[in-house]
Amino acid sequence: MPEIKLPEVELNIYSPRDPVEVPVVENWICTKEASPNYVRHLTFDISGTELEGRIRVGQSIGILPPGEDENGRPHKLRLYSVSSPTEGERGEARFVSTTVKRTIEEWDDNSLYLGICSNYLADLSPGDTVKMTGPSGRRFLLPENATDFNYIFFATGTGIAPFRGMVMELLDSGLENDIVLIFGCPYRTDLLYADYFEPLDNKYPNFTYLPYVSREDRRADGTKRYVQTCLWDDAELLDPILEAENTLLYICGLKGMEGGIYRALAKKELHSYLDLREEVIGKSPDEWDENNLKRHVKPGPRTFVEVY
Ligand code: NAP
Repeated sequence: MPEIKLPEVELNIYSPRDPVEVPVVENWICTKEASPNYVRHLTFDISGTELEGRIRVGQSIGILPPGEDENGRPHKLRLYSVSSPTEGERGEARFVSTTVKRTIEEWDDNSLYLGICSNYLADLSPGDTVKMTGPSGRRFLLPENATDFNYIFFATGTGIAPFRGMVMELLDSGLENDIVLIFGCPYRTDLLYADYFEPLDNKYPNFTYLPYVSREDRRADGTKRYVQTCLWDDAELLDPILEAENTLLYICGLKGMEGGIYRALAKKELHSYLDLREEVIGKSPDEWDENNLKRHVKPGPRTFVEVY
């Protein structure tokens, strides 16, 4: 296994007390077709700010939405994963992008809840400005020696954001090793950036895009296709990559996908991706309870996780 050399990163160049104001340059829907879930790709112009050239893919930016909560306090900062590559959106360091899903929930009293920051961002037009902080995050990064590795990216929903930038960056670097992107969403209309990933799968023999559409494509036994079921459903492709000693796993999206992926890895005896504590050694992964998953099953050094 080659040494994983994570780059040094700069953190919080702009803090919530001292944010920078930057304009929006684009805001477009990135679902495959008309979907009841509104997910948007937003790009900001950070030229002339200290952020230019200093945000790495895998990091997040903070956005301070305007206004106050019901107690009269200013709304809190929200973090969004960067979806542009380190060199910047469109290859320009002055542009940084993110991926935002409008949070729309119906509560038990029949009232509608609209997420404060996601709806604020989704409503913006080019030329509008936002207060930005960051960057944040120092763990969920590509190694400096990126071309030494194969990559398996597991994403659910907007968890695809960092992988858009990472795939761009790795393919541009001339990486010859394998990259597999496994993307989970409820319906085919929710495929994010599919118009970008599908042609790449055809163009690059070492890149594979595997959509797992949980509520439409059932497995042979009638259960849902979840990203972790790919360890069986696409075993022919994945087994040799997972067994290679230079493969890294990245997991981003829903909290909860993590446990499913850890169970699947353990069932396939791919223990080198995990850090299993004494309490679960010898115990069947099906018997791991929430406490086991929280305390005794951790990602190993080859596995990078960002879920919430
Ligand atoms: P979504 O479109 O609803 O898709 C989620 C998919 O995951 C669905 O197909 C869902 O299937 C499936 N799923 C549900 N439980 C699962 C499990 N235990 N294991 C595997 N798959 C499972 O997703 P979304 O609304 O965009 O939500 C994405 C989440 O990612 C949000 O919670 C967001 O906060 C998080 N996120 C995190 C980061 C980060 O940490 N940097 C960045 C971006 C997004 P069914 O619904 O059919 O069961």
